[in-house]
Amino acid sequence: MPIDQYANSFVCNLVAYEPGKPIDETARELGLDPSQIVKVASNENPLGPSPLAKIAIREAAEESHIYPDGGGYRLRSAIADSFSMDISNVILGNGSNEIIELLCHTFLNRDAELIAAEHAFVVYKLMATLFGAKYVEVPDPGFIHDLDAMADAITQNTRLVFIANPNNPTGTMVGQEAIDRFMARLPDHVVAVFDEAYFEFPDSPPDVLKYIHQGKNVCVLRTFSKIHGLAALRVGYGLASKNVATFICQKQRQPFNVNSIAQAAALAALGDTDHIAKTRAVNQAGMKFYEKELAARGLEFVPSFANFLLVKTGDGDQVFRDMLKQGVIVRAMSSYKLPDWVRISIGTEAQNQRCLEVLDSVLAAATT
Ligand SMILES: *Cc1c(COP(=O)(O)O)cnc(C)c1O
Repeated sequence: MPIDQYANSFVCNLVAYEPGKPIDETARELGLDPSQIVKVASNENPLGPSPLAKIAIREAAEESHIYPDGGGYRLRSAIADSFSMDISNVILGNGSNEIIELLCHTFLNRDAELIAAEHAFVVYKLMATLFGAKYVEVPDPGFIHDLDAMADAITQNTRLVFIANPNNPTGTMVGQEAIDRFMARLPDHVVAVFDEAYFEFPDSPPDVLKYIHQGKNVCVLRTFSKIHGLAALRVGYGLASKNVATFICQKQRQPFNVNSIAQAAALAALGDTDHIAKTRAVNQAGMKFYEKELAARGLEFVPSFANFLLVKTGDGDQVFRDMLKQGVIVRAMSSYKLPDWVRISIGTEAQNQRCLEVLDSVLAAATT
């Protein structure tokens, strides 16, 4: 009998996560220099890592022979201080993706249900599937999470509700009122997870930390991968009420889940207000540029609170492949059941211009 017969069926049937196409791979395939490739596929920071983090990385590299502080004391303390919380409210993860997995480890089993929006970040579905749990997908009219409908979907078996705010890949955000209404209906057997990977981009994001201060069953996920520009180092954090955090921090995680270079870099990046401000400014300028240019072309897009835009181009897989041939990597959205759309990360001014030029040429060729 082949070994497949003995593997968990829900693992065999899983469709693996497809990341943005790497720059090196694209350059090899096209015979180009990697510096000629524009990657706007993974919502990375176009300005690069926080400069303060780069200094910290070099220093931390000197101590690479020493195991990391598994408890992440300095980074967790700094995060706790910046949100007037206790260190026991702070969870570190190998990317915030790891914290998603740890939440699933803690709360899911074959009888449990995880609720998310129809066009939510795809990792929630992957994780629910890996744990053999039931994934409940709630329609999101206009690509905006419908929190009333998500509260309606809660059953006795529900354990986790994921709210990505702003959401990836739609860029939409739900406001304070809808969240407060949702939280008033949250039963004791359910944890609300607010995935705030893009929290630093919108001007006035809703406040969900108040629910942690109130001791509600809430976990808020943040990351150093996006505005801080540290995606390669894999470090994110969760903020949670003590009862939720204890499970994840002390019982579930690997002893050294976040390496010391990542911890040092994150600590420096957290205080790099200059880099954060510059990144927001570049993002806002780029967002304005795209909104104006796409509207001028009559191309539909979803207004975004984050650092990327969902654009309706028709046949997104084809547009992805055609743009790739010209060295621009965008993200096709067919895996999100959005076959006519691509997601474009906001880049530097030069990257945005190049991306739009290539999109124009690809769309012009498609109509002739
Ligand atoms: C990018 C992203 C993350 C962050 O993932 P990391 O593992 O921290 O790199 C989490 N959630 C959403 C919705 C994202 O888009």
